[in-house]
Amino acid sequence: MSIEKTEAIVLRAVNYRDSSKIVTFYTKRYGKMSAIAKGARNPKSKFGSLFQPLNYLQIVFYRRESRELQYVSSSDFVRYFKSLTSDVDRFSIAMSLIEIINRVMHDEEENEAVFTLLADSLGALDGPDTFPRNTFAHFGLNLAIALGFTPNFAECLHCSEPIDLEKERKVYYVVEKGGPVCEKCTSVLSEGLHSAGAFEISAPALLILRSFTRLTPAAAARAQMEQALRNEISNFVFIYLKKHSGTLKEIKALKFLATSQYDWPGKE
Ligand SMILES: [Zn+2]
Repeated sequence: MSIEKTEAIVLRAVNYRDSSKIVTFYTKRYGKMSAIAKGARNPKSKFGSLFQPLNYLQIVFYRRESRELQYVSSSDFVRYFKSLTSDVDRFSIAMSLIEIINRVMHDEEENEAVFTLLADSLGALDGPDTFPRNTFAHFGLNLAIALGFTPNFAECLHCSEPIDLEKERKVYYVVEKGGPVCEKCTSVLSEGLHSAGAFEISAPALLILRSFTRLTPAAAARAQMEQALRNEISNFVFIYLKKHSGTLKEIKALKFLATSQYDWPGKE
C-alpha cells in the first residue's frame, strides 16, 4: 500500500454506512477512481463538504492496486468554481460534462489530456462573459479527439477532395465514419447518404467546429455566434459522442435544457 497525492474532480458522491461517503473522482494521475471518505458525513467534519460533484480538489489517499475502493485521508480545494452553482444553465452543462466523463472513462486509466480538458472547461464555465453551450460543444469534440475518434472536417469521405467550407452552404456529414461529403458526391450518392445515416449541417457550423479543435476551453467559451449555430454545433457533438462512445445513450443533466426555450440535444 502506498500514500498518493493527486488533483481530482468529484464526479459523484453517495452515502456509505453511518457517516461515510463513497466518492467517484476523475483524477489527474489515476483516471477515474472511487474512494471511501470516512466520517465525511459527520456534521463537524470540514472534510465532508469538499466531496460535492464539480469540486476541484487535491486529495491524499491510501492506494492498493488490488482494491476497488481506495481510502481518502485528506483533501483541499485546488479551485472553487463559485458561479457554477448559482446559475442553472452553467450548472446543468457542468453536470453534463462530469456525467459524460463518468460514463465514457474506465477506472484507473490515466489520461492527463482529458483531466486538463475537464478542469479547464469547468473553469471556462465558471468565468464571466462565456457561453455555456460553447463549452459543451468544445468539450465533447475535444474529448472525442482525446479518445481517438477524431472527426474529419476537411476532406470528402467519398472522393477525398478537400471541402471548401467557405463556399458550401449545407454539407452532409456521416457521423459513423466521422466525415463530410462534398457537393459533387452528394448529388451522385443522394439516396445512399440517407441510408448511411448522414445528416445535414451548415458549413458555418462545421467551420466553427473545426476552429474548436484548435481553441482552448477559455477561448471557445467566449466565441460569438448566432444562437442557431450554437444549437447546431452542440447537437452535432452530442450525436457524434453518442455514436462513438457506445455508453452515452442520453445525458440526464441536459434534461432540463431539453424543456427550455432552446432546441437542444436530448429533445428527441
Ligand atoms: Zn466528394
